[in-house]
Amino acid sequence: MTILELLNGSTNYLKGHQIENPRLNAELLLARSLNLSREELYIQLHGSLKEREKEALEKLVQRRISGEPLQYILEHQEFWSIDFKVDPRVLIPRPETELLVEQSLLILSENSFKRVPSVLEIGTGSGAIAIALAKEVKIIFLIATDISQDALVLAKENAKSAGVQHQIKFVNGDLFGPLRPSKERKLFDLILSNPPYIIRPEIGSLAKEVRDYEPIIALDGGEDGLEFYRRLISQAPFYLREEGWLLLEIGQGQGEKVTDQIEKNGAFLKQQILPDLSGIERVVKAQRK
Ligand code: SAM
Ligand code: GLN
Repeated sequence: MTILELLNGSTNYLKGHQIENPRLNAELLLARSLNLSREELYIQLHGSLKEREKEALEKLVQRRISGEPLQYILEHQEFWSIDFKVDPRVLIPRPETELLVEQSLLILSENSFKRVPSVLEIGTGSGAIAIALAKEVKIIFLIATDISQDALVLAKENAKSAGVQHQIKFVNGDLFGPLRPSKERKLFDLILSNPPYIIRPEIGSLAKEVRDYEPIIALDGGEDGLEFYRRLISQAPFYLREEGWLLLEIGQGQGEKVTDQIEKNGAFLKQQILPDLSGIERVVKAQRK
């Protein structure tokens, strides 16, 4: 059997099990089982496979069919053109989250800081957002937190692979908890977060890939999905510098509820809801008085 025949067979098999993008999945899984890049795979399409290579592929295909995300099987995901290691300890970074990075860069470039800008990311997971910022802005004081110690181990590994481990301080704890009461308490120019925001009763109806494989602690936004916004919005003013920014990723349909909370809080000057590339409201941006 040639690689091409096996590729076609696996594509059909994945398709038959309702896996989206079956050809791409098959190519990436086959490349992984042969230890080749996708480009190398194309060059060798007419080559043949060893029995153990076929078996390796079958195992990976079975994992994918049972719902395991492709990214966990391959252990990587690209975000902001940086390669991140991902596994079940962390949420797989989503492309729409790049909007948080874009908006942060805009804020950091518009404000000609007379000092090194200080940024706090809450709930860093794989480290994707903080690492992307560290790559883009060399002179920056960055703290990234997570309540999951396991996630932080992986985030640090990712920071090292990206060569920015000296630019980010990773700390463990609940929201602003780790910044208090020690000297770590700093006033930030920018606080950003992609918090868990799924409505708890809806977690059961998420795609199997998300529901059964991604960390529940990264998804569960409480009974109404807004628990983290309430806590972040009420506490952020104590950690933000005057005219500092709060940037929050939001889930579909949460824009108005989040901006209402910001409005009611009273510590913010102005705010805005920004759509992602699909036109879905994705980021709330608010400036402290
Ligand atoms: N920043 C990553 C991204 O955008 O891909 C991960 C975002 S994920 C939706 C939310 C993250 O918040 C998870 O890594 C989770 O462990 C963390 N988290 C959940 N509850 C937290 C809490 N109380 N304090 C700090 N981090 C928390
Ligand atoms: N973007 C994730 C999803 O759609 C949710 C992540 C989060 O709660 N912030 O499943």
